[in-house]
Amino acid sequence: MESKRNTIQRRLIRDAVRELDIHATAEQVYDFVAEQHPTISKATVYRNLSQMADSGELLNIGSLNGSARYDHNCHKHYHFICEKCSKVFDIDHYQPDLDERVLVMEGFAVRSHSLTFSGLCPDCI
Ligand SMILES: [Zn+2]
Ligand SMILES: [Zn+2]
Repeated sequence: MESKRNTIQRRLIRDAVRELDIHATAEQVYDFVAEQHPTISKATVYRNLSQMADSGELLNIGSLNGSARYDHNCHKHYHFICEKCSKVFDIDHYQPDLDERVLVMEGFAVRSHSLTFSGLCPDCI
């Protein structure tokens, strides 16, 4: 029973991250899930988010403005943070050759890299 409950909780949480589509913080995911499932605890949401990030089901894109944010988009991409509205956008155009260049030029065996742009989004320009 425990594992079935776990599966349901995970699905709720994964759907919440996808539906929010804003690179939500754990707090935002909890608020979203709790609206329909008030019995779910904050600890459960936080624990599942971090387990799902560890297993690669979700991406923890690290802390922006102080809180870790979660991404349902697990393919390699970059981010753009708007300095005015604080929304986080996906930027495609991932550059796999950068990893290779760091290996050739600096001798580091790179597994992945991340890049975050900041400035003004199209709505705020
Ligand atoms: Zn903006
Ligand atoms: Zn993203």
